[in-house]
Amino acid sequence: MATSAAEELREFCQTPGSASQFFPFGSQGYKDSVRHWLQSSSDVAEAAVQPGNAKDLSEIVKILGKWRAPFAVKGGGHATSPNLSSTRGIQIYMNRFENVRYLRKPDKRLEVGAGCLWDRVYREVVPLGRNVIGGAASEGVGVAGWCLGGGYSLKSNNYGIGIDSILGFEVVLPDGRIVNANQNENSDLFAALKGGGNNFGIVTKFILKTYPQRRTYGARITFQKPEFEQAEAAIADFAEKETKRRAAIVAAFRHTLIPGKTEPESVINLTCIYDGKKRTYDPFKRFQSIKGSPYQPDAAGWGVRAAAAPVQPMSFAQRAIKVSNVDDSDNDADDDGGSSEISASAAAAGFREMDYFEADQLSGSRFDPPEWQKQSSPALDMPTFAQVRTAQPMMMAAAAPMPTPQKSSMSGVGEVKGCGRFGCIMVSGYTKKLVKTVSEQSRISASKMANNGGRMVIIDVWPFLPRLFETSTPSAWPHPRGKVWFPCLAYFLWEEEKDTKFWLDEMARAFAKIKEVAKKEGCHEDSFPAYCNVSLDTTTPEEIYRDNLPWLMDLRAKYDPDDVMGLCSGFKIPHPGGRAKPDGDRDTVST
Ligand SMILES: Cc1cc2nc3c(=O)[nH]c(=O)nc-3n(C[C@H](O)[C@H](O)[C@H](O)COP(=O)(O)OP(=O)(O)OC[C@H]3O[C@@H](n4cnc5c(N)ncnc54)[C@H](O)[C@@H]3O)c2cc1C
Repeated sequence: MATSAAEELREFCQTPGSASQFFPFGSQGYKDSVRHWLQSSSDVAEAAVQPGNAKDLSEIVKILGKWRAPFAVKGGGHATSPNLSSTRGIQIYMNRFENVRYLRKPDKRLEVGAGCLWDRVYREVVPLGRNVIGGAASEGVGVAGWCLGGGYSLKSNNYGIGIDSILGFEVVLPDGRIVNANQNENSDLFAALKGGGNNFGIVTKFILKTYPQRRTYGARITFQKPEFEQAEAAIADFAEKETKRRAAIVAAFRHTLIPGKTEPESVINLTCIYDGKKRTYDPFKRFQSIKGSPYQPDAAGWGVRAAAAPVQPMSFAQRAIKVSNVDDSDNDADDDGGSSEISASAAAAGFREMDYFEADQLSGSRFDPPEWQKQSSPALDMPTFAQVRTAQPMMMAAAAPMPTPQKSSMSGVGEVKGCGRFGCIMVSGYTKKLVKTVSEQSRISASKMANNGGRMVIIDVWPFLPRLFETSTPSAWPHPRGKVWFPCLAYFLWEEEKDTKFWLDEMARAFAKIKEVAKKEGCHEDSFPAYCNVSLDTTTPEEIYRDNLPWLMDLRAKYDPDDVMGLCSGFKIPHPGGRAKPDGDRDTVST
């Protein structure tokens, strides 16, 4: 007879016919399951389980509910704060839900398993001449977390945010039932899952709209300090005046402190992507006269990057879209029908036609940590881990809180060494003054790195068109037609846990200043909902869901009467019943 959730899960996974695997603390499968992109987003779980299919997941959820065991669900593990997809309880890792299926009939939809990463999905669907609305910096980012939070894409100016291109979900409800949620079945749940995170169950499959994918046009340019003023003006000009729906820029104000140096290296990394063939009008012309160094990913070696290398002709043989498959019935408001010839000045600035894979790689590079920042070894520091573990054996049975682990014990459980956070404020546009403020504030924060263990400071300007929510569908996350908001995002990275408070305070200081200017410039209102996918874990459900919170709370009671998902890490929509947690605490309203 099992005496804890972990034991019962182990027994379940060992029963004949189970497609799932249980991983005890310290095993390789355990490490893969708890590992996150940022080391600081990982935690010391009691044990891990990788469900093999929806039926097994249903049993696993029932076991967790029965024991009132804390747990977390991890998709791609790219949560940018702790406590969202990590736990001291049972770590569920969805990696075995990896099927991708394109259905030409009835409507060219794509079924995507909840364990898939965006780069994998693009590889499957782009060769068919189709694509989905997915993450911009896609390598390793999970479809699940991105879709369940909202989803800003390089294609969003044309097709809206990710949740508006979801046709349906397959989901395991907190009582173990496996149901579909779409416009015709459980339509209230369908809306609640769009931005509602893991509050209503565990999604096993996403059904996504696809759109024609043509070749793309663009470049990534790095500007150095002498060009900052000109670059900032051109970025603001693009944000204020550009109307082409297929054109997107992401400007990263990036400062990196190399160990041993006192001054950060400061650059603006500008990614320009036109999601279609270049026509006569070039939306990126305003950047081409500014001196910058083009960025050239290696077309032959996925993931190998060479900054500022000379522009080489690209070979697309391996990854070319099968052009015969491209469905051009897509309405192209941008198409001026003109010449696709690339001007000499554009080519000199690194602009070129490319396939979608290369475009995706260009945008992905903006979050890529420098070589020295990556984990040198994937091994866990097991002795320290073991001390944490043996200090509180059978945590579930005893229902006692684990001691705070020494952070050194977490080495090897993140792709990016050290501690980091994404944070954001929501804006509705950028003016020249606001872009300048972002640039200034990133520099002020960066100047504090040398004395406070800082390693990288990035603040992004990623502007969108006012039409962003024109295709808005009923969703948990508020984004009504006629309104517009999007994240002004900061990514700070530092070396040690002891400096966490300093850097969170510093991010708050920088955002307070940016917000003050954004308000004055008419680009921010206090009522804008927070975007949970890049918000700090201290963000409240009121800040995320605004006026939608009451109906979401009602739906929590309807679909999760026993508040099982209240045991799951993440941004929590309060449960009207507020059932007791195992340690005797009541659920609280804020996260
Ligand atoms: C490098 C990088 C690039 C990014 N680029 C973009 C971008 O272009 N646009 C954008 O909008 N955001 C972007 N983000 C933010 C990203 O959307 C979020 O970090 C997102 O949560 C990542 O999803 P994940 O599955 O990898 O995360 P995870 O850490 O696995 O999960 C995040 C949340 O989703 C929940 N969850 C995961 N799987 C399931 C499931 N099957 N059922 C129910 N709940 C589940 C988790 O419990 C957790 O609460 C980026 C982040 C990074 C680090």
